[in-house]
Amino acid sequence: MQIFNTLTRRKENFKPINEGKVGIYVCGPTVYDFIHIGNARPMIVFDTLRRYLMYKGYDVNYVTNFTDVDDKIIRRANEEGVDASVISEKYIAECKTDMKSLNVMEATTHPQATKEIPDMIEMIKVLIDKGHAYEVNGTVYFRTRSFADYGKLSHKNIDDLESGHRDDDHALKVSGEDEKEDPLDFVLWKPKKEGEPSWESPWGDGRPGWHLECSVMSKKYIGDIIDIHAGGEDLIFPHHENEIAQSEAANDTEFARYWMHNGFLKIDNQKMSKSLGNFFTVREIGEKYDLSIIRFFMLSAHYRSPLNFSDELVEAAKNGLERIQTAVSRLSDMEKTYVSGELSPVIKAAVDDYIKRFEAAMDDDLNTADAISVIFEMVKYANTNIGEGASFEDVSCMKTAIFKLCDVLGIVAEKKAEVLDSDIEALIAERQAARKAKDFARADEIRNQLSEMGIILEDTREGVKWKRA
Ligand code: AMP
Ligand code: ZN
Repeated sequence: MQIFNTLTRRKENFKPINEGKVGIYVCGPTVYDFIHIGNARPMIVFDTLRRYLMYKGYDVNYVTNFTDVDDKIIRRANEEGVDASVISEKYIAECKTDMKSLNVMEATTHPQATKEIPDMIEMIKVLIDKGHAYEVNGTVYFRTRSFADYGKLSHKNIDDLESGHRDDDHALKVSGEDEKEDPLDFVLWKPKKEGEPSWESPWGDGRPGWHLECSVMSKKYIGDIIDIHAGGEDLIFPHHENEIAQSEAANDTEFARYWMHNGFLKIDNQKMSKSLGNFFTVREIGEKYDLSIIRFFMLSAHYRSPLNFSDELVEAAKNGLERIQTAVSRLSDMEKTYVSGELSPVIKAAVDDYIKRFEAAMDDDLNTADAISVIFEMVKYANTNIGEGASFEDVSCMKTAIFKLCDVLGIVAEKKAEVLDSDIEALIAERQAARKAKDFARADEIRNQLSEMGIILEDTREGVKWKRA
């Protein structure tokens, strides 16, 4: 497989550090609110990378964090008069619900910054001992110029950065906060302020800097060197650049082999973001569309390209997904009645060729857009070439292949069966009759069957009421 590596700005052959195993670290969200669909893009894209590597037989260790201590969380907690952890725990749970609805697999480990403080303190100590960090009045800074490779990921020259910082520098001096040796130095540990959560440290009570958490959590859950580090392209500088500086300075080894960055989800050609206010949460979009459509929409573009969000494009994705699901349900119906026979060598060869082309697209820097086109071709082939005269094996071979490839993309190829009101009411009537006849086992069985269909029953004085979960 080839992966475009931000570090070298080239597509490179992917070769894991340990044969058959891949360690992936993806920077996760800061949990102070519901996630928006821009935040969902890296989750979907890199979940698809993970699924594809698993399909290829790799054992994948997938780690993605929650940033659960941060100015925005603290501000929100103060506004609501609760502890910061109340806010972060609430939105971690909400985020997990959204990820599930987007069919994003549970991470191997989902670390939280506040639970890893001792390891962060350890890394800071190492950096101070090696001369890469220093403390002033309870703040610990990373000495950026002590790391010779600074700028290698974002391809920035450290001296250009210096001049770009002059204005900030001036502002800091004016406000009397300038205690850094160099304006390029960044914070590893910041001292406690009134009303903020804090932890004890050798430099006084305080909390860690944002960049540090990913260096520490990736080391703990993957190792000093990780195969693939990923996130949105806004994280390249300074976040990922700073992660490299901290980790390589502390561990004396390369930090990440491959750096993958997704392009922005835009709206009216502007980045979707909380601060611009031009965002939709996954939750609100979920009320309008089935979220499998949003996943399909995200994957219909290459992950490095910007993607504009619009109702027209989502509608197009909806139609595309339906085309696949309709073909699959036709094949499912045929499977029920077609008789067993020979698998046609022509169909087998066609299916094998589609699978090969799907893999070639995915091997080309995760080109999900082309991979989806292959599935569309497959569906077209199935609609025109598999019908009367086909054997059960022909139908099954095609259906299994479509299912397998859709599963790599996390796309559900089988339409959820629609539950009709009349069917629900018939079952409820049957349950009432069973109860009347004192056949409670059957009554319970029907209640469970309805519950599996997502129907909740409530026995009231006026009779049985029901609602969809
Ligand atoms: P944040 O909570 O802002 O740190 O973002 C969490 C993840 O979402 C990071 O990987 C960001 O790069 C990514 N992200 C945020 N906004 C967008 C967007 N509009 N399009 C794509 N990715 C985004
Ligand atoms: Zn990070």
